[in-house]
Amino acid sequence: MPGDDGYQHDLLVIGGGGAGLRAAIAAAEESNRLSIAVLSKVYPMRSHTVSAEGGTAAVMRENDSLDTHAKDTIFGSDFLADQDVVEVFVKEAPGEVIRLEHWGCPWSRDPDGRVSVRPFGGMTVNRTLYAADKTGFHMLHALFQTSLKYERITRYDEWFATSLLLEDGKVCGVTALNLHDGQMRPIVAKAVIMCTGGAGRIFPFTTNAAIKTGDGMALAYRAGVALKDMEFVQYHPTGLPGTGILITEAARGEGGHLKNKDGYRYLQDYGLGPPTDTPVHRKMELGPRDILSRCHIQEHQKGRTFDGPDGHYVHLDLRHLGEKLIDKNLPFVRELARNYVGIDPVHEPIPVRPVVHYMMGGISTDITGKTSLDGLYAAGEAACVSINGANRLGSNSLTELLVFGARAGRAAARHALERPTLRSNPLAQLASDERRRLDQRFLRADGREKIADIREEMQKAMESGCGIYRDRATMEGTCQTLRKLRERFAHISLADKDAIFNTELIAALELECTLDVAETVARSALAREESRGSHTRTDFPKRDDARFLKHSLAYRTPDGPRIEYLPATITRWPPEERKY
Ligand SMILES: Cc1cc2nc3c(=O)[nH]c(=O)nc-3n(C[C@H](O)[C@H](O)[C@H](O)COP(=O)(O)OP(=O)(O)OC[C@H]3O[C@@H](n4cnc5c(N)ncnc54)[C@H](O)[C@@H]3O)c2cc1C
Repeated sequence: MPGDDGYQHDLLVIGGGGAGLRAAIAAAEESNRLSIAVLSKVYPMRSHTVSAEGGTAAVMRENDSLDTHAKDTIFGSDFLADQDVVEVFVKEAPGEVIRLEHWGCPWSRDPDGRVSVRPFGGMTVNRTLYAADKTGFHMLHALFQTSLKYERITRYDEWFATSLLLEDGKVCGVTALNLHDGQMRPIVAKAVIMCTGGAGRIFPFTTNAAIKTGDGMALAYRAGVALKDMEFVQYHPTGLPGTGILITEAARGEGGHLKNKDGYRYLQDYGLGPPTDTPVHRKMELGPRDILSRCHIQEHQKGRTFDGPDGHYVHLDLRHLGEKLIDKNLPFVRELARNYVGIDPVHEPIPVRPVVHYMMGGISTDITGKTSLDGLYAAGEAACVSINGANRLGSNSLTELLVFGARAGRAAARHALERPTLRSNPLAQLASDERRRLDQRFLRADGREKIADIREEMQKAMESGCGIYRDRATMEGTCQTLRKLRERFAHISLADKDAIFNTELIAALELECTLDVAETVARSALAREESRGSHTRTDFPKRDDARFLKHSLAYRTPDGPRIEYLPATITRWPPEERKY
């Protein structure tokens, strides 16, 4: 903690979710000479990872193989995943989930004592481990309690990182606001790992917690790092209307049916049939999320969805699974449906509709989690190491946190060990500059604009231009609106001018981040003139490998993002048509 030099560590992890804690533990294991810090705007156990329900993918059974997991992931990504990265991912996944069990994660088990695996969308073999339908809670808990073992890991809970500190083109730490006393401090570190999670809150209707505002993506972007593949936003086909609360894919993995208003399993009309009573891999309800979300919209256009006060929806029917199975494997689904839509899935079907769920894109990193900026690493949903490409398969993300959290932790630890000790004096100056910026911009400002108005307009613009179906005209409109909102943001005023626990100030900082991230999504989407994975353009309905078998990279400029491209890495799976 603070010494004469202020707040100084060898390694600083921003984010106390699954990726951040896994990274911190890996760094602590790499060397006992390192002082490590985990800084998080909420208590670690409140990070979004806690709400993951369905499970985490890894090859655990004789009928499975690393190549099959790799192929499913690459196929699901619509061939935009980097295949060398996917190969490392599937290889290191089983070791990671077993290690997590040794740290206390209670995986659900079969009667013969083996770890259970359930089917998941787009996976051709049962390979999704789970802890009932509270997988994220148990994983995060196991990681959190393991991190407590290491005295050399210091925590800054309820601190908000506002900017990266740079000296001579190298990262030297961050400025962060201690929410408890309102003080801005420089936290000096030889390496920083960004594990700040996704940015679903750029959209109005999302499964994502309110804290998922893309802060780390924005901080890296402002420091000159590219955001990769930002146009790829995953809609999950089964959220509760109104709240957007997720009904996990595990409900379909266990055998749930999607039905339209005529009680008909409509997915059979979209090349995903034939319908059966037991789940068939990659067919019907176990098709990938991008395709299922598009089927919903088409079904709506045919007038075959229900209409409710919160828009159109279809039914997710679990009744035939029976109370015993629902209570054993899907107890949280029952709890959520009862509490939030007043429906008991044992007796009635659950209303569901597509909802924004996950960002495939993020801070561009290499296979070790390193970014283009010396000293900066990233992992988890904030990063794009490129296993998800244009569409992530459900249950790969929790595994990604483990595999690439650990990799980033090790790589950053080695970097910190090699780097000479930093002087914190010039950095203290940078922190007071940052404090002044916030004071002038937010606390003394007397503008007329309101945070809530700008946020709402941004979210509406994103939904209209960057939703499930996209076209040039609406995306151009979205880009223009976002530029105007940025100008308006310069004139916001806060009612709360207090320093201590100023949640309105945090909301303003988060809004500033979402505006940056939203713009990279819209501009990258506009530039990609093809349809691939979750990015579906009505004006360019086909995948175009000749022009776009490549990652987009969004770089910050004063006039908005500049988009460049980087070829996708193909090793053993040449692109083919993605049919299910
Ligand atoms: C409802 C739901 C269910 C899901 N279910 C599954 C599933 O079953 N299987 C699966 O594979 N995936 C699932 N996912 C996706 C997966 O859970 C997430 O992608 C993953 O947990 C993200 O983890 P993370 O560590 O990258 O970030 P998070 O868990 O989101 O943590 C981000 C951390 O960064 C910190 N932070 C952010 N900004 C700042 C800042 N400015 N200053 C300081 N700290 C900051 C936060 O405090 C937090 O600690 C689900 C997602 C949701 C929303």
